[in-house]
Amino acid sequence: MRVSLPHMGNLYIPCRAILEQLGVDYVIPPANSQRTLSLGSRYSPEGLCIPFKMTLGNMIEAAEMGADTLLVPGGYGICRLGYYTRVQEQILHNLGYDIEIIQLGVSERKFAGMMDLIRRVTNNAPWHRVLSAFRFGLTKLNAVDQIERMVQKVRPVELVQGTANQIYTKAISAIDNTDDYDTLKRVRADYLGQLKQVTTDQQAHPLIVGVTGEFYVVLEPFSSFDIERELGKLRVEVRRTTFISGWTKFSLFLNPLGINEKSRIHKAARPYLKRDIGGDGWESVGEKVLHNKEYDGLIHLAPFTCMPEIIAENIMPSTKENIPVLTILCDEQIAKAGVITRLEAFVDLLERKRRVQKDQRRVTA
Ligand code: SF4
Repeated sequence: MRVSLPHMGNLYIPCRAILEQLGVDYVIPPANSQRTLSLGSRYSPEGLCIPFKMTLGNMIEAAEMGADTLLVPGGYGICRLGYYTRVQEQILHNLGYDIEIIQLGVSERKFAGMMDLIRRVTNNAPWHRVLSAFRFGLTKLNAVDQIERMVQKVRPVELVQGTANQIYTKAISAIDNTDDYDTLKRVRADYLGQLKQVTTDQQAHPLIVGVTGEFYVVLEPFSSFDIERELGKLRVEVRRTTFISGWTKFSLFLNPLGINEKSRIHKAARPYLKRDIGGDGWESVGEKVLHNKEYDGLIHLAPFTCMPEIIAENIMPSTKENIPVLTILCDEQIAKAGVITRLEAFVDLLERKRRVQKDQRRVTA
């Protein structure tokens, strides 16, 4: 058995750590690229969303590397996510790959499902080894997300543009290469220290823009035109509430105990949308309402043809909380150059809004 999994942001790092520690034969497909997207788009039904196409591209690339078992986190929600893996498996078989997809039903079996899955691919490794490998993977995941949060703060205010990105790239690779807790702790502290020491513009007062939308495109930079880096170049601080570590913590451990991290956001959305509509549409509406005072603007990432985000996009203009929202559709047909032009125009609008508000405050003072 040779195991693999599709990409979603830095998810491959904890997964690699777990598989490595348990001695599983695995391959990680190449990082997402134009080839991944082209392969996925070529063999997907035309109207499907970009997460389906990208992950199918990863699966084909993994199969080319000899993978015969794919682990795919997923669940059975209201949208088509629930039948993703069966369709992808059929496509792979039609292409001649003898491959099995094991879907991890996170939404149904939580932590127990994850443990069963790991034991299955490790031929029933002892529990203590599985738990220890899983814990190490989670520690890596937390370190990666901590670095990413810090990079979001430094990018818009660094004096030499690109410094934070360079540190980030090195940090991610160093964390990925650690094999024990001591090294991991040292690497994390070292790179956090480097980020703290980046020379920044102390007078800068960057615009704050939230990034929300469908889970996959928010977390996978290739599918959403590396939007956070592009906003950093425009001197904008990005705020994002979705991180893989947070999602893991809640969906595997805290949700089964009745602690729902989304209750606040659902409550905020309720005057405009009363129920779950699948995917992350309910949360997208709630984010706009909840962060109205905190953000200068909101970027809403929506896969083209994604029903939940189409609903959210149509509700957002009607809320009384009127922060500007820019919806960006993510698909293989959309060119990055066009997205950057729209981002520049959006940032111009936010700067003007801030200037006008400042002038109004001065007049009334
Ligand atoms: S939420 Fe949207 S993008 Fe995600 S699987 Fe469902 S339809 Fe596709």
